[in-house]
Amino acid sequence: MSILVCGGAGYIGSHFVRMLCDQGDDVVVADALFTGHREAVDPRATFYPINIADEVALRELFEAHDLQAVVHFAAYSQVGESMKKPLDYFENNVAATLTLLQVMRDFQIPHLVFSSTAAVYGDPGNEDLTEKTPPRPMNPYGESKLAMERMIHWMAEATGMTYMSMRYFNVAGAWPDGTLGEDHRPETHIIPIAVNASLKSRPFTIFGSDYPTPDGTCVRDYVHVMDLVAAHLLALSALQKGAASSIYNLGSGSGYSNGAIVRAVEEVTGVPFPVTYGPRRPGDPARLVAVSQKIRQELGWTPQYESLRAIIESAVRWHRAHPEGYSD
Ligand code: UDP
Repeated sequence: MSILVCGGAGYIGSHFVRMLCDQGDDVVVADALFTGHREAVDPRATFYPINIADEVALRELFEAHDLQAVVHFAAYSQVGESMKKPLDYFENNVAATLTLLQVMRDFQIPHLVFSSTAAVYGDPGNEDLTEKTPPRPMNPYGESKLAMERMIHWMAEATGMTYMSMRYFNVAGAWPDGTLGEDHRPETHIIPIAVNASLKSRPFTIFGSDYPTPDGTCVRDYVHVMDLVAAHLLALSALQKGAASSIYNLGSGSGYSNGAIVRAVEEVTGVPFPVTYGPRRPGDPARLVAVSQKIRQELGWTPQYESLRAIIESAVRWHRAHPEGYSD
């Protein structure tokens, strides 16, 4: 019996695949390598370089393996890009997931763990977000993830499949020894960009300094990639033991402003860097902070790396070990 990981060559997926392999599971990875890296896929996993939108290739994969669950990370995930290319997000995220779900239905796969996002909530003002906060996406990325969540929900109602939708806040950090990490091309996320500004003197701009927050910059809730993927293992094992479908926020509950991120990176590297203040990035809410008590109580999630410093230290270790990122 195997677990299929869609998007297992991506930043989060590759960390999850390694953790699954470490616990001795038989892992199959499907990844079109649009944004992922072949090098990041654990060699113990069976790798298919396919797009999940390719129904023929996907059915062949499902025929070839006795799959007991799917963990679905494959998606475009950039807020700014989604504002410029909304249809790409609906095609690559929603339409491809529809194909995946149809094949899962036909092969009667009983469980799905799905990567969702805090972007489904939109702009909640100063409210901390619980899973009961009504979703009101304010960008096509969040809208596409919400549409995927809803498709999954209704399919599960009809088929008896059980699922867990994991709404990530801001994921950062790397495998603690620096052997796996974040390598988006181009990079758009604040922590790797700030680390590169510090280590490689790259330019750095804070998008917006007139938000209604204490220092005028956006506030986000950062969760370590290792804690995030550990939550997926808990979700998978709970589903396999018969847990009901559920939605979980995954965050630390602490908000850090973009200005605070700059200071924290400078502290960890010891190398200050110049900061330019630019206009707001379209699609960005001012503040996103999670209440993630539900997963702590129901699945016993206990993050091991809750401090922002620990997150940034591991990111710096990855960047120092891989100044040019992955080789592919
Ligand atoms: N950000 C920034 N400069 C950058 C990249 C990001 O000021 O070079 C800001 C971005 O506008 C947002 C926050 O950092 O307020 C987090 O953005 P990121 O893209 O890292 O994650 P997102 O919140 O979009 O998932």
